[in-house]
Amino acid sequence: MPSKSLVKWVISTRNKHKVDEIHAILTELGPNLLSLEAFPGAPDVIEDAETLEGNAAKKSETLFAFTGLPTIADDTGLEVISLGGAPGVHSARFAGPVADDAANRARLLRDLSHVDDRRAQFRTVIAFSTSQGTLFFEGVCEGVITREERGTGGFGYDSLFQPIGFNVTFAEMNSNQKNAISHRGRALRQFADHLKMADLEAL
Ligand code: IMP
Repeated sequence: MPSKSLVKWVISTRNKHKVDEIHAILTELGPNLLSLEAFPGAPDVIEDAETLEGNAAKKSETLFAFTGLPTIADDTGLEVISLGGAPGVHSARFAGPVADDAANRARLLRDLSHVDDRRAQFRTVIAFSTSQGTLFFEGVCEGVITREERGTGGFGYDSLFQPIGFNVTFAEMNSNQKNAISHRGRALRQFADHLKMADLEAL
């Protein structure tokens, strides 16, 4: 039987911030986590599903089929109550098909410029694909959208999101503080709890 350090899993993302966040929480469980950088020929996955679950599964199942290794993928949406849950599954393309993070944040501030109800939540769905099929884990973090950007850490909408109970944005926290309360941290801890009971070498 191989030792746990020989168990290899794939994280289906090229986003270095996500790889670091996932690493920080799963590393003690044993498997070696490889990002997509280790698979130069990996197919690009078009994230065109209408749900976070759909996109996460598309990424994990495509990469599992390509690598044959258990694969973790996440999809995250920012759901703003006064915008009816938008941008949600469309968060990455909120300001247009090739929008970057800065353009998405600018659009969010514009759309909320005359709005007092600034409640929002991040929701992450993790899909884990193995020879036994695909499992899902979810994490939610509630907060408010600030009136201007604050902080330089993190990525995406972090500098506009202040979690409930805090007076700093995610971008003003260090990565340990963010991981302790974030949507992705919560989803990953649920995943980790499940893994503690699983036979990792049988996956
Ligand atoms: P995806 O999960 O990579 O598809 O992310 C969807 C959108 O949400 C992108 O615009 C990301 O930059 C943003 N996003 C994902 N996770 C986070 C996070 O933890 N903080 C802030 N923005 C995020």
